[in-house]
Amino acid sequence: MKVYIETYGCQMNVSDSGKIVHLFANQDYQPTSDSRSADLIIINTCSVREKPELKLFSALGRYIPLKRQRPELVIAVGGCVAQQWGKKLLERCPGLDIVFGTHQLDSLPQLVAGVRRSQKPASSTDFLACPGGLEVMARPDPKAVNAMVTIMQGCDNFCSYCIVPYVRGREYSRPSSAIIEEVRKLAEAGIKEVMLLGQNVNSYGLKAPGEISFAELLGMVHEVEGIERIRFTTSHPKDMSDELISAFATLPKLCPSLHLPLQAGSDAVLKRMGRGYTAAVYLENVEKLRQVMPDVALTTDIIVGFPGESEADFQQTLMMLEKVGYDQIYSFKYSARPGTRAADYEDMIPDEEKRDRLARCQALQNKISQTLLLAQVGKVSEVLVTGPSKRGEGEWSGRTPESRIVNFPAPVSISTKVVAGDIYRVKIVEAFKHSLKGEVVA
Ligand code: SF4
Repeated sequence: MKVYIETYGCQMNVSDSGKIVHLFANQDYQPTSDSRSADLIIINTCSVREKPELKLFSALGRYIPLKRQRPELVIAVGGCVAQQWGKKLLERCPGLDIVFGTHQLDSLPQLVAGVRRSQKPASSTDFLACPGGLEVMARPDPKAVNAMVTIMQGCDNFCSYCIVPYVRGREYSRPSSAIIEEVRKLAEAGIKEVMLLGQNVNSYGLKAPGEISFAELLGMVHEVEGIERIRFTTSHPKDMSDELISAFATLPKLCPSLHLPLQAGSDAVLKRMGRGYTAAVYLENVEKLRQVMPDVALTTDIIVGFPGESEADFQQTLMMLEKVGYDQIYSFKYSARPGTRAADYEDMIPDEEKRDRLARCQALQNKISQTLLLAQVGKVSEVLVTGPSKRGEGEWSGRTPESRIVNFPAPVSISTKVVAGDIYRVKIVEAFKHSLKGEVVA
């Protein structure tokens, strides 16, 4: 049997899809990239971006007709849109067999078996005290040098624009012992770099009585032999503890790169977003981080055109981009998520204005990113090889500790020895729009 998985959105969904592949491998399903030959099609949805339902309905419009030729085909929809719609999605989309929620990952094989037996559609979207599937460990890709490890799920912050707490449930931290065990197994399988994942990793353990803090967890991951690099995402600026900032100074495997979502530069907008910090507090955190890691590479999320955002508010966002100097930003026009507080706010910004602000925001950031990449030329960095470069030409590709992509030719003397997972000292010789070119030094 073959399973085809289509994944939308964030890293958490990518990680969940890896777990689903693993669960079905135990049921003798092989993954396939060809939906037409699949016995099971799973769509793992995301509702963070705009118009998520449209994307899903269009995919179902492609896949449900395949049942005419393959009546045994089972189609399942999971992730945030499935969680939001529940069994109403089955009514809306005849031909869809299964709707499974964000806490029901591990029950999916039973749901599929049940549908095959009964020939009746099924849905399961209840929230559980401990989300199902968190303890499923995806089999690492034998060629991969990095892997994601989910350390917590859900969020209690309820930012006014965000749907996550409603679709991923309340914050839940996995036991640290289970996380360390997973990291050990990944290291044994040859993984060199782990990305610790969660909706708000800095609040890891805070609501789990007796559990260690996030900074302590990083310390334990740091002890795992074979792991060379540690990253994490996503952080909330209001939860950046001094303990966590000091961890960057004391744990050399902790990479000097951090995604710290700003969202907006105006305090008035931040307040309406319910973010729990001001621009000044955010800058203070950046300052503290740069004291312990002067070269830290920062990335962020920006929402432009939030309800009530004036031109002056927007200018504050642009000022923050200049002041912080992000390597990269992920910027979006505000779009209302039904069910969130901000969806009922007044003073919606016209779409044309949002588009204009987004264009100005991205134009400024492109200049900043380019300046920062150009500043790397001449520097020597340790590059963890991830595989052959997409550019071909016999080049290799990897990432610096700051997560910048570097392509470099293998020197003739060691060309047969370069393998993914190796770390090379590489001198940066050229900067492109999104990547760097380097040469291996001694
Ligand atoms: S912190 Fe805010 S934006 Fe992030 S997941 Fe939680 S509610 Fe959403």
